Amino acid sequence: MKLAVHGGTPVRTKPFPAYVTAGEEEKKAVCAVIDSGCLSKYLGCWHEQFMGGVQVRALEEEWAAHFGARHAIAVNSCTSGLYCAVGAAGVEPGDEVIVSPYTMSASATAPLVYGGIPVFADIEEDCFCLDPASIEARITSRTKAIVVVDIFGQPYDAGPINALAAKYGLTVIEDTAQAPGAKLDGRFAGTLGHMGVFSLNYHKHIHSGEGGVIVTDDDALAEKCRLIRNHAEAVVEAKGVTDLVNMVGFNYRMTEIEAAIARCQLKKLTALNEKRLENVRYFEERITSIPAIRVPKVRPGAEHVYYVHACRFDEEMAGVSRNAFIGAVRAELPHHFLREQEGVKLGAGYVRPLYLQPMFQKRVAFGSKGYPFSLGNPDYSQGQCPVCERMHFEELFTHEFVLPSMESADIEDVLLAFHKVWEQRGALSNGK
Ligand SMILES: *Cc1c(COP(=O)(O)O)cnc(C)c1O
Repeated sequence: MKLAVHGGTPVRTKPFPAYVTAGEEEKKAVCAVIDSGCLSKYLGCWHEQFMGGVQVRALEEEWAAHFGARHAIAVNSCTSGLYCAVGAAGVEPGDEVIVSPYTMSASATAPLVYGGIPVFADIEEDCFCLDPASIEARITSRTKAIVVVDIFGQPYDAGPINALAAKYGLTVIEDTAQAPGAKLDGRFAGTLGHMGVFSLNYHKHIHSGEGGVIVTDDDALAEKCRLIRNHAEAVVEAKGVTDLVNMVGFNYRMTEIEAAIARCQLKKLTALNEKRLENVRYFEERITSIPAIRVPKVRPGAEHVYYVHACRFDEEMAGVSRNAFIGAVRAELPHHFLREQEGVKLGAGYVRPLYLQPMFQKRVAFGSKGYPFSLGNPDYSQGQCPVCERMHFEELFTHEFVLPSMESADIEDVLLAFHKVWEQRGALSNGK
């Protein structure tokens, strides 16, 4: 059978099943909110309703109980939740915040909102989260916080990183957008640092269209997040807030409709994650016959929830480049129903190491005079995170063929495509 990249018939053209998590329960919940006549109940002044309406508060209570956190604070995205967390951590102009180069951009850009300077540390080559040794090498007297990311669904290396944070007096902000339900030593990801931030956007395990939730056990941090969420500057006087640092509020309020949907979604999380894990096991057991593919390592003590399944490809063993190989497998497979615009859910690498983006290379964020980068002298040169660069440009590939909507027959087609290309890899040109 000729490879599809060479004009042959693809293994499969019928789209994979749609990944749709919202259904009748969500419809009913949304209609009930509309019938109540109140689509949002926030007031931006010091009032009982400063904390939002019934759905928002119920979601917060249920979220906190589910994940075992003292506080949950609903916001309108994970990005805005990260902004709240950086503000609550007291990051000031010129402070350094250590971030990962291999994540969705918001986890690295959040410090900029308060004038903080992102400093990139390298990642682990087996788990792809921030590497504790690289973090320690980047800590200076100006370091204020670390934004760790539970990347691809795996908790960060909380033991050594939290110990570093304690030693140097740093706040740990955990971006757990990709890992709702993951655990480390029995504790939920999101609750491993000082504050954790979840995402409820359309691409995540569960979603309300857009949305986010911050969790923390710290009363003072929780209160700051709640203030920043809803125009803090307008209420500090009436409320008697004395610490004015970063109390420049925004409007990060989640609506009652999103909260009502999120409450239904939270009830489905555990079952959805179990199906995902079942699919991962099915795929991993059958991909082992391709010796150049290494499946993701799970950190000892961790439960991974596989936002994506991130594997490594050994070009030398394969005798073909990762890009040529993955490109050929992509050509054999279809997109997911209802997500045509997202293309085939398989890609070489993940995101380009973030420090290579123009904003960092040219040091232009707010205004044209280099603020806030000019308050320090950060190094964003190529080569500074060699593991991340090697993973992205040479070894890593990610796929979403473990989505809970996939059945074993669908995964069989994926495996057929991988094996077809593997057997005929000699026919692929070796260009990158
Ligand atoms: C999706 C994602 C975000 C942003 O989430 P939004 O809710 O869209 O703002 C942040 N960090 C990571 C790691 C993500 O995957």
